[in-house]
Amino acid sequence: MSAARIFEALGLDQGRLSDGDWVVCSPIDGAEIARVALDSPEALEAKVARSVEAFAQWRIVPAPRRGELIRRFGALLREHKSTLGALITLEAGKITAEGEGEVQEMIDICDFAVGLSRQLYGRTIASERPEHSLRETWHPLGPVGVISAFNFPMAVWAWNATLAVVCGNSLLWKPSEKTPLCAIACQHLFTQAMAGFDDAPDGLSQVVLGGRETGVALADDVRVPLISATGSCAMGRQVGARVAQRFGKSILELGGNNAIIVTASADLDLAVRAIVFGAVGTAGQRCTTTRRVFVQREVARVLFERLEQAYAALPIGDPRKAGTLVGPLIDARAFAQMEHALQVAREQGGKVVGGGRVLADRYPDAYYVQPALIEGGGALDNSFEETFAPVLYCFAYDALDEAIARQNAVPQGLSSAIFTTDVREAERFLAATGSDCGIANVNVGTSGAEIGGAFGGEKATGGGRESGSDAWRGYMRRQTATVNYSDELPLAQGVRFG
Ligand code: NAD
Repeated sequence: MSAARIFEALGLDQGRLSDGDWVVCSPIDGAEIARVALDSPEALEAKVARSVEAFAQWRIVPAPRRGELIRRFGALLREHKSTLGALITLEAGKITAEGEGEVQEMIDICDFAVGLSRQLYGRTIASERPEHSLRETWHPLGPVGVISAFNFPMAVWAWNATLAVVCGNSLLWKPSEKTPLCAIACQHLFTQAMAGFDDAPDGLSQVVLGGRETGVALADDVRVPLISATGSCAMGRQVGARVAQRFGKSILELGGNNAIIVTASADLDLAVRAIVFGAVGTAGQRCTTTRRVFVQREVARVLFERLEQAYAALPIGDPRKAGTLVGPLIDARAFAQMEHALQVAREQGGKVVGGGRVLADRYPDAYYVQPALIEGGGALDNSFEETFAPVLYCFAYDALDEAIARQNAVPQGLSSAIFTTDVREAERFLAATGSDCGIANVNVGTSGAEIGGAFGGEKATGGGRESGSDAWRGYMRRQTATVNYSDELPLAQGVRFG
């Protein structure tokens, strides 16, 4: 589907596809699909001011009523699921199933947020003083700035937006400059959900289009108490420092370098399927992509051979075509980074299987690649970095402790998995001395998390948590209140004063 057809199906003004100078290209064939207008610093200023005003109104709307708005939004997402999925495919290059899967993830988080809108529970706490009550209340925070990456051009915003909105906040979304159309489409449906919903103020949710400088301006703005930023570790290092400088809060969801450990007791059929999906799904461009495999030496040869066979049969090509499993990389830069990683691996003695550009005759301006497997002897320097492409480093190990230590030896700490049928190995992996990642799975791969759990990772992944469980607390401020209903004024800790 073309961008024009998608906009028509969503009821979006076609003028938005040619109202500026910023060129948007599809990674499918490199062709231009739109020219959109970016926001000037003055426009950003006006949007932040509107967001502050919208917050002042929205925070007094009862939370279950706020949930009703998200319920309406979720209904629109359901109605337009395949069209939105097609837009993700067109702009980010995901295969159809993954594009639609991303929309499903938005629908799921809407359902979660609707329920949450009646469960923003605080605690009552036993006071040490007679006739006193002690309680915690969660209050809305203010305008929430969302900075998002190209590879989840809709869902990352939805994880943040749905929770932030039921928590009583307004939203300012700076999407990746590579995927502005996805943002325009989501914003349009959100605005539609607001139509006839009188409690929802104008400016409750706004998109700010721009590049790095726009993200920096948002991160520096004291009127935006929370910045939730998803992207590379390099971006997070800058955004985190800038927001901390002004005592703002941040939720950082940054790069991953995720590993799967396969022990000798593992069900290899499961392991191979999980590794292949995790390593080549979304052409290796997920934060949770499997980038390293540690396999116990007894089964290493057989696993490597099975992976090589599976890799040789991967259907690579147009992500819109049924049967395709590996679509394009986002752009030429991503391809150059993949080439560089493979070059370094070869220089350091790694055996590289696969890699290289394919379908270049048919798509001279797009970047389809053969996913690469690297069998490494010792350490391969680039295996410590996140190369955002389908590059999988495979290492053999002897003892589980060694595998866990090597898994944990990278800067990032997002997702991890073990394949084993031995309960002791599984529990050691999940123990305090096991995986140091925010996500640790047993007989489940590193990618494809459900929205019900809190999502995020440790160390250079940023430490933030989004989505399910109690991640909502990140979007609110906590107030501890002590109420004295006695006629005395007893002090805490039994202190006597005067
Ligand atoms: P990126 O860091 O290049 O850009 C992400 C966003 O940050 C964009 O909107 C960009 O304009 C903005 N930005 C860049 N530098 C900035 C700065 N200094 N100040 C403010 N904003 C800035 O990332 P990308 O290439 O779009 O996405 C890929 C990266 O995102 C990978 O590292 C991937 O692992 C990570 N990612 C993480 C998660 C997660 O939940 N942990 C999810 C998706 C993607």
